[in-house]
Amino acid sequence: MQSDQTSPNLSRREFVAATAAAGLLSMAGSLGFAKDTLAAEAFAMPPLPYPDNALEPVISANTISFHYSKHTKLYYDNTNKILETKPMAGMTLEKVFLEAAKDAAAMALFNNAAQAWNHTFYWNGLKAGGGGEPKGKLAEMIHESFGGLENCLKALTEAAVTQFGSGWAWLAVEGGKLAAVKTGNAGNPMTNGQKPLLAIDVWEHAYYLDYQNRRADYVKAVLEKLVNWEFAAKNLEA
Ligand code: MN
Repeated sequence: MQSDQTSPNLSRREFVAATAAAGLLSMAGSLGFAKDTLAAEAFAMPPLPYPDNALEPVISANTISFHYSKHTKLYYDNTNKILETKPMAGMTLEKVFLEAAKDAAAMALFNNAAQAWNHTFYWNGLKAGGGGEPKGKLAEMIHESFGGLENCLKALTEAAVTQFGSGWAWLAVEGGKLAAVKTGNAGNPMTNGQKPLLAIDVWEHAYYLDYQNRRADYVKAVLEKLVNWEFAAKNLEA
């Protein structure tokens, strides 16, 4: 995957995806297919940035397969289905869920669009041979905000393990400092004015096939072996 496709707010990718969908639409029209078979502003689910088995043994190919091809895909499909009835053309996926968050009647759209965004962010925040030490400005900020990497990992673990029920743990920027935060269900730090750098999915579907109820073991393994600090650093700079 090209580095410019992993930008943190995904706006470029979504722009490319939206453009591709629009192109397909006009192609479908010129080929005589019904124009309503493709929504003009449909969000295409970005490809997984590695093969299904790339994160083994920390996360099995079986988990990745269900989590990406079923769960993540359903969030994109549902988002696109709901958007067919809403005038939000041209918005990025991020903008869609931030707007939906302000409207109590748009709960289903918020849940699906935020989950689509959160999952793509999560997939890009993991990599085979991850973990280790962050570098540069990110490392400096971790030191300033937490007093060192060990404390940062502890705070992220605490957020991930104490999130009651489904949700997410995040490394985020708030007021110029880094913080470990948690959100329930489809929640995203951006709705609280925080900027996400990394996400850990703590919905049971993220780990149950491999770790059953042992969420803490999954979180520990992800932080030690998969976390993509370069992705977090890029998000910090963006
Ligand atoms: Mn998930």
